[in-house]
Amino acid sequence: MTDSDAAAVRVRFCPSPTGSPHVGLARTALFNWAFARHHGGTFVFRIEDTDAARDSQESYDTLLEVMRWLGFDWDEGPEVGGPHGPYRQSERYDTYADVARRLHEGGRAYHCYCSSEEIDERNAKARSEGRAPGYDGQCRSLTAEQVAGYVAEGRKPVLRFRMPDEPITFTDLVRGDISFQPENVPDYVLVRANGHPLYTLVNPVDDALMQITHVLRGEDLLSSTPRQIALYAALRDVGVTDAATPRFGHLPYVMGQGNKKLSKRDPEANLLGYRERGFVPEGLLNYLALLGWAISEDNDIFTMAEMVAAFRLERVNPNPARFDLKKAEAINAAHLRTLDVDDLATRLVPYLQAAEVLPEQVTHDQQALLRRATPLVQERMTVLGEAVDMLGFLFVDEDSFSRDPADADKLLDENGRAVVKAASAALADLPTWDTPSIEEALRRALVEDMGLKPRHAFGPVRVAITGRRVSPPLFESMELLGRERSLNRLAGAQEG
Ligand code: GLU
Ligand code: ZN
Repeated sequence: MTDSDAAAVRVRFCPSPTGSPHVGLARTALFNWAFARHHGGTFVFRIEDTDAARDSQESYDTLLEVMRWLGFDWDEGPEVGGPHGPYRQSERYDTYADVARRLHEGGRAYHCYCSSEEIDERNAKARSEGRAPGYDGQCRSLTAEQVAGYVAEGRKPVLRFRMPDEPITFTDLVRGDISFQPENVPDYVLVRANGHPLYTLVNPVDDALMQITHVLRGEDLLSSTPRQIALYAALRDVGVTDAATPRFGHLPYVMGQGNKKLSKRDPEANLLGYRERGFVPEGLLNYLALLGWAISEDNDIFTMAEMVAAFRLERVNPNPARFDLKKAEAINAAHLRTLDVDDLATRLVPYLQAAEVLPEQVTHDQQALLRRATPLVQERMTVLGEAVDMLGFLFVDEDSFSRDPADADKLLDENGRAVVKAASAALADLPTWDTPSIEEALRRALVEDMGLKPRHAFGPVRVAITGRRVSPPLFESMELLGRERSLNRLAGAQEG
């Protein structure tokens, strides 16, 4: 692409606000956004909410919130506006009615009076005769008498698009040359009998009116592309637009468990679940980028700025991509490790609050403690939510501190309690309460004097102090917890 083309790039992300946003949606948004940003183009966000039975305001609100959480800034769209608004299709019905009328008057679409039963019957017949099913063009050229007859019967027509009787060929930006034969793309409905316009009309009409140059979307929509290409030509013919037909690129399927397409209903498809567990947007987006694209052969970890700089459609892989949760987690963990400690500490707060480890109003002391504790867990977390179990022991008040019963049973048995007792004695009069002093005192008392293996020496102390067998580093944890609370917990653990 030359630079002058590039300046004109306009892409759109145009979800329908139904259900909960899913991974496939975010992948589509990401590829469009990265493409726009790479070319210094325009990222249009449009809401395709023309299906009143399925769309909901709640879904719409969630969609916008998730888009903002992921960090997709849109140049035109809801709450931002722009020269081609409104960007919610439910606010554009007048436009669609006008376009439908012009297509009809221009002869590019026609009224079809067939009932669905009649069409089903004819399709069944076609199948039994070995012909391709699909609308057979019966109403393409009705006489005035036939129309009058249907009207007299009380039939209400749908508006049907007249497909050209020739193959439609285009070069997909991901999959190369693709050709559709006319018998496989029959005339299709644009407007229902009740006057309601369908996706088949409103999506390409808005792409035309919003001067979209590139349509990047999932492979599941490939079959609508020949229809849209034909409709585009008709829109130009009847003077709705003079925009060129966009280029199309179909992103690969995402496969879930057992070689099946990842479905919106699969739990790992739910985008909100990732935020709840504590994926950071940087990590999730990095992973989603790999569903059909790669920055290089030997590096999987990158920032969005790096993706934008490197993003080329030529490198999008047409083969199905496999969704791999473990890999997503590993990538998220890598991003957590690169965060600045203050930043990470700030991001942990809502997760600790949701689990009531921290109160609504975090005190200055709690904040300072969290800041000091964060480096202890930064390398150990895959998702932010794990901090709840790892750091809870530091913030809980002594009255409600409790130990994991299984861990306590196992490690605070008679032997364990003897170890904890020796630890108490060794620490009681420690002159300075810091990590090296604590470590030295415990090593001397437990490993050297008692002759214990480190695992047997520190396991019971760890459960006594943190309540769990797995915790952040022990001596640092004790320093952060403080002398008084640490000695308290060691005393408590001896009671058994
Ligand atoms: N609203 C459509 C969908 O979410 C958009 C499809 C397209 O990108 O053309 O499936
Ligand atoms: Zn018909």
